[in-house]
Amino acid sequence: MLVRSFTELALTPAVLEAIAAAGWAAPTPIQAAAIGPILEGHDLIGCAQTGTGKTGAFAIPIIELLAGPRPIARAGAGPRVLVLAPTRELALQIAETFDALGRTQRVTTAVLIGGEAMGPQVAALAARPDVLVATPGRLADHLERGTASLRAIRIVVLDEADRMLDMGFAPQVERILRVVPIDRLTLCFSATMPPEVERLVRRHLVRPVRVEAGTLARPVAKVTQVLYRAEARDKTPVLLRLLGEERGRTLVFTRTKHRADRVARAVQAAGHRVARLHADRSMAQRREALDGFRSGLYRVLIATDIAARGIDVPEITHVVNFDLPHTAEDYIHRIGRTARAEASGLASSIAAPEESDQLRAIERHLGHPVPRQAAAAAAR
Ligand code: AMP
Repeated sequence: MLVRSFTELALTPAVLEAIAAAGWAAPTPIQAAAIGPILEGHDLIGCAQTGTGKTGAFAIPIIELLAGPRPIARAGAGPRVLVLAPTRELALQIAETFDALGRTQRVTTAVLIGGEAMGPQVAALAARPDVLVATPGRLADHLERGTASLRAIRIVVLDEADRMLDMGFAPQVERILRVVPIDRLTLCFSATMPPEVERLVRRHLVRPVRVEAGTLARPVAKVTQVLYRAEARDKTPVLLRLLGEERGRTLVFTRTKHRADRVARAVQAAGHRVARLHADRSMAQRREALDGFRSGLYRVLIATDIAARGIDVPEITHVVNFDLPHTAEDYIHRIGRTARAEASGLASSIAAPEESDQLRAIERHLGHPVPRQAAAAAAR
């Protein structure tokens, strides 16, 4: 079943509210694929990279299992969820997501990461949080000192398992999994599935469901695709030239929020009405950008992949990949934004030499090269 909206999932209103408050309009493919099986109590292997929404793919069902009508265990007996992550930064990001999505249900989180004093972490543990987010080394230290107990854990998440093993955390991960109760749910997320991850999964997961970031679709036949090769510094002139040559509502994709801001400034300076859509913008700003793009107030919308998920604007005639997407799947998603409802559309991609790996992956998936146009002609 293809899940298109969060409301199709068995989530309580408070959880749906928290998702809406985060500004997430529709599930990403990994969320659509993973949330259902986790809610049903299956162990799960999620093949997905950072940036696909994988944190939400486990945080949403876990919050539902903690605070929904059928909680997985009694609250207050100690942490019920353990998330292991390879780095401090990732651990902090995961905790932030749990805090944001779990606030309405008072799901509490503690972060145990290296490079920080033990004292405040011990105090945070004493407050009996629901969720522990930890790097394996620091959690192993706490276990050794007897400052953390995993007796009440009912759900374990191994996030970025491939990176955790690459960083040499296998002994700590094994040690931690030995002291977690057997009667639990285990979820493993990994961008790649090397033999070490497969071994870990075979030892610690029970009949896991496997999900990927989504199956690849084929591009709409009506979209004309063209490719401009340009040095990174020449991308902006190529884009401005394209905007000058062609009329029509144009959706421009950039790799990062920062680049979206920069490109928007250049496009605005060239005299175009432009709006931005990315994760750093507030709900109100996003809504204003989308409404303005829909109504025609803005001709150009600059977006990152994740922010553009679930947006539905009819009559987008042009899509420009200012930066190539990381996956062939995102490419298909992006260019599928044009040529909706029988209309035809034009998808232009501007590729720098350092993006040749991405280009190769996209063309391999399409089964043919994207027709080249001379970038010099576009930039003149
Ligand atoms: P992740 O892959 O978990 O690191 O998520 C990448 C980014 O996507 C984060 O900034 C999330 O806040 C954002 N995000 C996750 N799920 C969604 C969604 N369904 N809609 C919009 N943004 C999302």
